[in-house]
Amino acid sequence: MTSFADLGLSAPILRALEDVGYEQPSPIQEQAIPPLLKGHDIIGQAQTGSGKTAAFGIPLMEYVDPEIRETQALVLTPTRELCIQVTQALRTYGARKGIDVVAVFGGAPIRTQQAQLRAGGHVVVGTVGRVMDLLSRASLVLHSCRYVVLDEADEMLDLGFIEDVEKILASSPSSRQTALFSATMPPPIRALAERYLYDPVTVKVVTQTLTVDTVEQFRVEVAASDKAVKLAEVLAQERPTQAIVFVRTKIRCDQLGRLLKDKGMNVRALHGDLSQGQRDGVMLAFKGGRVPILVATDVAARGLDISTVTHVVNFDVPASPDVYVHRIGRTGRVGRSGRAVTFVESRQQRELEAIEQHIGMALTPWAPGVRVEPAPVTERPRRHDKPKITRTGEGPWTTLLVSAGRADGLEPADLVHAVSSQAGLDGEAIRDVRVLERFSFVSVPAREAGRVISAVEGHEVAGARLAVEAVQA
Ligand code: AMP
Repeated sequence: MTSFADLGLSAPILRALEDVGYEQPSPIQEQAIPPLLKGHDIIGQAQTGSGKTAAFGIPLMEYVDPEIRETQALVLTPTRELCIQVTQALRTYGARKGIDVVAVFGGAPIRTQQAQLRAGGHVVVGTVGRVMDLLSRASLVLHSCRYVVLDEADEMLDLGFIEDVEKILASSPSSRQTALFSATMPPPIRALAERYLYDPVTVKVVTQTLTVDTVEQFRVEVAASDKAVKLAEVLAQERPTQAIVFVRTKIRCDQLGRLLKDKGMNVRALHGDLSQGQRDGVMLAFKGGRVPILVATDVAARGLDISTVTHVVNFDVPASPDVYVHRIGRTGRVGRSGRAVTFVESRQQRELEAIEQHIGMALTPWAPGVRVEPAPVTERPRRHDKPKITRTGEGPWTTLLVSAGRADGLEPADLVHAVSSQAGLDGEAIRDVRVLERFSFVSVPAREAGRVISAVEGHEVAGARLAVEAVQA
């Protein structure tokens, strides 16, 4: 097993990683760090949660010389949230080396950021718009910038920033090293990479099924104002032995706890505003099985490991896919099966998509008594397998992830047509077609999955060449 020391990192960086508690590199880090340290450009196909920030951030920190007070590295992000998150991560990786990381993003006073830049940040992390602005004011100068990262390039594309990204790349030294990270590789991103990256090494991590296989995962589309009523319905129907209901904030936790109590449920709330004694009391009551329902915030529920939890309800959509995985990992422990139900408001579709992409499968719409049948992941067979017509719509089912979505002009009908015409499946054998922004899901009978993959892979629909993989067991 590779360690960070095996990757040839310097002492200050190794110490910083120790400080932050990383024990060993994640797969994307193991693949991306060595070529980046050698000076190669890279294309990293990885999602949030894979450890991609450290994959580009660690070599970046190795590269930067703290003695030189100029912008030596630039990380571009599509959003302010990601900008802040990346900045915080980079600050920890560079802390032992004395590297200053400056965050520049819109919606905050530009003067403060200009002052920080004047003070000499070694590394700048910025949103595309604000970086353009600072470049035009000559507050940000890139002539010493020899390391550029595009983080979540496909998001930049979706948000319409690609032209500005090109301008920024064009105004940085051509001798720079460039790392492009993107969860998906739509054609404009490939074109960008071809133009601005030099002989890049491609590294890719296939998201493992991070969630416990024994958890059946559902979603409920619900208006914010109907959530409490819906929760009562879900709990009444599901009859959990024990359930944890996750909410985002302490206040909501308290309110929801009271509301359920008022409805006559045996429920306790666990959040950070309780005294240690109160928290211990709630924990004991829940662990001892005296209380079946616990409403909790993520922080308060940290470390809760209770084998009798049968249900997790995400009353509020988790803040990130990682949090989702973490939350639902509380159920389905050691050989038991669990069920997870996630409430999604209409404005939270993007969060849902990020979760589905991260776990590599679509959540099933919840209905009373609905079950998700587990199906074996099928190996990809050779291309010369003969197509045969399948008329049965019987399970078990395998979910396939298809590399194109609405942004590529793909419609559900196109996908159904591609699967039926290329692989000879009839309509009964094609289920759960969901076309999302940049990728799609479709379920087919598990025993046909391999054949469908090889038949549809590389097929062109609406100008997009499809890549297909089986994602769900
Ligand atoms: P990212 O995909 O960069 O957003 O990282 C996801 C999460 O994993 C963050 O909370 C990181 O701090 C954490 N992380 C990244 N690399 C490692 C590692 N090698 N070991 C443990 N945690 C990590």
